[in-house]
Amino acid sequence: MIDKPDLILTGGRVFCGLTEGFVEAIAVAAGRVIATGTAAEIAALAAPETRLIDLARRVAIPGLNDAHMHLLPYGMNMNQINLRPESGAGSITEILRRVAERAKASKPGEWIKGRGYDHNELAEGRHPTAEELDKVAPNNPVCLTRTCGHVAVINSAAMREAGIGHNTPSPDGGLIERRDNKLTGLLAERALRLIVEASPTPSKVELRAAVDRASRFMLSQGFTSVMDAAVGMAAGMDEIEVYEEMASDGSLPLRVWVCIYGNTDGIGDQAHAAGYRFGREVGKLRYGAMKVFGDGSAGGLTAAMSKPYLVGDPDNRGIFCYSDKEMHDYLAHYHNLGYQLAIHAIGDAAIEQVLSGIEKAGTPDSPILGRRHRIEHCGFLSDSQIARMAAGGIDPVPQPVFMYEFGDLYVTNLGQDRTDVAYPMRKWFDAGLHPAASSDAPVSTTDPFKNMFTMTTRMSNRHTVLGEPQKLSIEEAIHAYTYFGAYTQFAEERVGRLVPGQLADIAVFSQDIFTCAPDVLEKDIRCDLTILGGEIVFDRLGHITVAAE
Ligand SMILES: [Zn+2]
Repeated sequence: MIDKPDLILTGGRVFCGLTEGFVEAIAVAAGRVIATGTAAEIAALAAPETRLIDLARRVAIPGLNDAHMHLLPYGMNMNQINLRPESGAGSITEILRRVAERAKASKPGEWIKGRGYDHNELAEGRHPTAEELDKVAPNNPVCLTRTCGHVAVINSAAMREAGIGHNTPSPDGGLIERRDNKLTGLLAERALRLIVEASPTPSKVELRAAVDRASRFMLSQGFTSVMDAAVGMAAGMDEIEVYEEMASDGSLPLRVWVCIYGNTDGIGDQAHAAGYRFGREVGKLRYGAMKVFGDGSAGGLTAAMSKPYLVGDPDNRGIFCYSDKEMHDYLAHYHNLGYQLAIHAIGDAAIEQVLSGIEKAGTPDSPILGRRHRIEHCGFLSDSQIARMAAGGIDPVPQPVFMYEFGDLYVTNLGQDRTDVAYPMRKWFDAGLHPAASSDAPVSTTDPFKNMFTMTTRMSNRHTVLGEPQKLSIEEAIHAYTYFGAYTQFAEERVGRLVPGQLADIAVFSQDIFTCAPDVLEKDIRCDLTILGGEIVFDRLGHITVAAE
């Protein structure tokens, strides 16, 4: 016998999944979907205590899943100076004004951090310099991180704190930039660790607040699941401990798939020794993937490519974080420890290093098929690499929104042809892969409608068309943002579709995303309602729920 529903959504449409299509209404009991069907069929299930929510001609979809973002750092960043272009930080002059303002409000010696500028978008078309930062904040260490997270500029006080002097060599896989024998303040890739090590470690109270802040923000946009893509990168084992505490006392606001930061400077082996292994589950928290970085970013000219970039040094093909041997040893090691590999690789040369390493990590006793290893980002790759991924059951976890925010920069850095087949959603779909849409926030915006817009139009934020054949239908885009995310987290039997038995994770948007014009999708849609496990966790309009007759 079917339970009496706690909650019914009716009066609009419900998108249940790519193969399931649309229904008129949905019924939820004890946190799960119990029935979908016509308005009349679902109304017949109602009991006196059932709450009815009127969709008012809107569409409900499965809760969104951001399959690769940095939840805890994102929450920390929400307290830093926002330097993203849409915040109005359009020039170095404006950035310096904001740093000066923060310096005035800070005690001497307190770190000032900012995040999100893109030097290509600034009026001056370059990075700020240490000298400029010294003028506005002489008594505070300052670190401003570029939007990609792979490059930052620091001032002299920060260099002193980090022990960076004129003779400090660039670390392996990193850069401490010098011009005319002078330190410019720019650091890239593994040189950024010097700043992480020099800045004060956030307390557990701060970490917990950061997870809560970022999670609630995600819920307000219709997300009910995320992967935190490098747990331990900001504060080591404390991050896992905070997640564990929140999951066990029931205060973790959304579902989190834990990807442990497994680089040389990470916590991979420590976390494994402490028992945080694949398959562990505590409340809404599940494990686990293992993250290793293979290269940088295409916008920052540091993604490792087989052919040179078109700007800057004519021989520059980006950088590898590790040699082939080091990377392959990592992959075999974590594969053998039972983790899902989630390896950052953006350029085709880095993808080659990672793909061949994953292929080699498999053995007859421990095959790679079924392990759902992932290549994070996976931006620029060849058709034969796609075919090998399909053969190995290795999925890409891309950020279509990179094409929206950085697509024009990719054209500058790599040319139109290489950009037109970057993040090839259609090719991956057709190859039977599971390209799970994501934001990599704080690298890109978490705004899901930007991701949907670019998946369905292949347009950048300047409306440059970047490889029209890679377009998806809006239904496929939602599938990539829900079911594929769940698949990459071994959760497709729990979430990702609205079918009886699945957890009732539901998002309702202000307009019909399946029929609206692209410019409406890009700019005018809001999340109205988010339901997680049958509970209303975000309600923009204060929905009036009424008892059934
Ligand atoms: Zn990331």
